[in-house]
Amino acid sequence: MSQQDDISYQLETLAIRTGHTRSFEGEHAEPIYLTSSFVYENAAEAAAKFSGQEPGNIYSRFTNPTVAMFEKRLAALEGAERAVATSSGMAAIMAVAMAYLKAGDHVICSRAVFGSTVALFEKYVAKFGVTVDFVDLTDLDAWENAIKAETKLLFVESPSNPLAEVADIQALADIAHANGALFAIDNSFCTPVLQQPIKFGADLVVYSATKYLDGQGRALGGAVVGNAKLLEDVFGYVRTTGPSMSPFNAWVFLKGLETLRLRMREHSSNAQQLAEFLNAHPNVEKVYYAGLPEHVGHDLAVKQQTGFGGIVSFEVKGGREGAWKVIDNTQFISITGNLGDAKSTITHPATTTHGKLSSDAKEAAGIREGLIRVSVGLEEIGDIIRDIRRGLDLI
Ligand SMILES: *Cc1c(COP(=O)(O)O)cnc(C)c1O
Repeated sequence: MSQQDDISYQLETLAIRTGHTRSFEGEHAEPIYLTSSFVYENAAEAAAKFSGQEPGNIYSRFTNPTVAMFEKRLAALEGAERAVATSSGMAAIMAVAMAYLKAGDHVICSRAVFGSTVALFEKYVAKFGVTVDFVDLTDLDAWENAIKAETKLLFVESPSNPLAEVADIQALADIAHANGALFAIDNSFCTPVLQQPIKFGADLVVYSATKYLDGQGRALGGAVVGNAKLLEDVFGYVRTTGPSMSPFNAWVFLKGLETLRLRMREHSSNAQQLAEFLNAHPNVEKVYYAGLPEHVGHDLAVKQQTGFGGIVSFEVKGGREGAWKVIDNTQFISITGNLGDAKSTITHPATTTHGKLSSDAKEAAGIREGLIRVSVGLEEIGDIIRDIRRGLDLI
């Protein structure tokens, strides 16, 4: 499956085999083409490539073979025609905004999105005359009511961070399409292994590859996935303005994709066991994990996802003091805001990732002082539970 990619294979096979265009050296692993430009046999070939008459590489801001391998492989996993890689997840979201929006347009975005995504729309995209309204992820009436004649893009992140609310992807896609808008979803938490939003009507799927696609906390990257015609505009924006993915990072992500299925299963299994442990602990007030049957998003998650993912949030007794006690009594779990790593990480959203919000905004978003978010890694689950339990028992 090197030259002619066969997308009839199952996801596990696609994740390992798709996209590698083997060079004349016959290498087994995907090569890293660490080169900024490409050379030609003669002037005529250069002219044909530059004019687009002949396909081929010109400059790595436009295309690069290692990056192209990553794009092909990710698109195959998503069941999509095309992926365009970017330098980070934020660059992917910016590429969507710049490719499809113009002055006068309107965006509706779910409220509980990644913090930088809010700033991207409110502070930067807004400068170009695009307005944005934020609505509750699960309130379909609010989405309907926010629609204007100028609405061009609906943007969500599902499951949400940190409370794991689940969007009804099909319903939101229908609202977007009935009003001539595009529907984009940030799928960084689920990855194509757990959720393939295009099957439920999404037009564009956005990734921070920095998280689970890498899976080992090494490299920044992102991607936009969708149909080929739609992605022409994203590609044009990226190749012209420069938020292109580094070939080295693309290679890291290619290796990450090979184990994505195994890792997402294990993250989900560990997270489920941690959520069930927490749910039964007397010092835990509430657990936010869609794998628990009582979670509000459980039924939708069962319909849309093949697993519940690795992010577990929970509220402990004793507010900030209780939460910090749990965090400070861990021994190996990393205290950091990052997620989607083989290493488990723990964070206090109210004073870190959501620390800039006013207390009213925090309350509205459900970010209480006792809330803790864990990105459950791949360490042995008994060890993970013991590390969290140490502080919990002390509250
Ligand atoms: C991290 C993250 C981003 C931003 O990605 P970067 O690669 O850090 O730019 C966007 N969306 C979600 C859901 C994220 O977790």
